[in-house]
Amino acid sequence: MRVVGRGGANVLIEYGHPNWLWRCCVRWPHLLSANNAYTIENIHYIKNHVEPLLHGLLCPMELIDVSTAILRPILNTFISELDEKVVKVIKIKNLASKIATNLIQNDHLLKSYCSQNFQTILLELKPKWIYYDTDYCRNCTHNALKGRETKYCYNQLLMNSSHLETMLIDYEKYPDEFKVTILEYLRNANNVFKILYELQKKLTENAIPIKDLRSIHDIKDNLLLLMTLRDVTCFIEWNSAGNTLCVHIIDVDLKPKKKWTHWTKTQCQVESGEKIFHTSSK
Ligand SMILES: [Zn+2]
Repeated sequence: MRVVGRGGANVLIEYGHPNWLWRCCVRWPHLLSANNAYTIENIHYIKNHVEPLLHGLLCPMELIDVSTAILRPILNTFISELDEKVVKVIKIKNLASKIATNLIQNDHLLKSYCSQNFQTILLELKPKWIYYDTDYCRNCTHNALKGRETKYCYNQLLMNSSHLETMLIDYEKYPDEFKVTILEYLRNANNVFKILYELQKKLTENAIPIKDLRSIHDIKDNLLLLMTLRDVTCFIEWNSAGNTLCVHIIDVDLKPKKKWTHWTKTQCQVESGEKIFHTSSK
């Protein structure tokens, strides 16, 4: 058993089965019971409110109970009081490729892995605010604010599939068959970016703008869902055998309402800084 990933709110644990991972919530550092309660609420939220929107792209996952004794050596580091006998764990399909393990691009919004000779390619990406209703691009502006020198933008990729060439470093090294297949996918009306764009658009039109939030009571379900969909991770795996693309979405967690102050603070910074339409002209 070992930790294979650590986010702000979760640890990902490999426990001996290569195809599945245990995802444990550590969002609350003091009590296991607080994390367990959230995990139960979260899996219901995902199954009832998120999965039905995602056209079958949600990564397979289920809630399981694991004895606290088994996880104690790991969770001790993250949670001070393990006050329940079981840990509510989300068992999730391991989307990391066993073959495409060579990391060839790694920035804040994209990781690209390939196998020897590029027979398998795995893209792990975060579309973030792929839809925006401002006269500037939220993602490009936020990247500039954070000092990231990102040249590409998922909104641009959605509008123009040839932006893929700007997005992938060493584009010429990728196999032609991969490029043809993924470019065709990007032009498909049901691709993962289009799905997220349309969902974000509809929810943005119906949710209270972040700049108008005044208290936690202003946080309604459709804003929470919108914030979830602005923070997902997508996996796109291409295999030369069969020339197939396999697409999944993960990181679809319910956002705690208390995050609203962080959202308004960020929005304030974005609006008071330099606005960028898109970083790249291509
Ligand atoms: Zn942009």
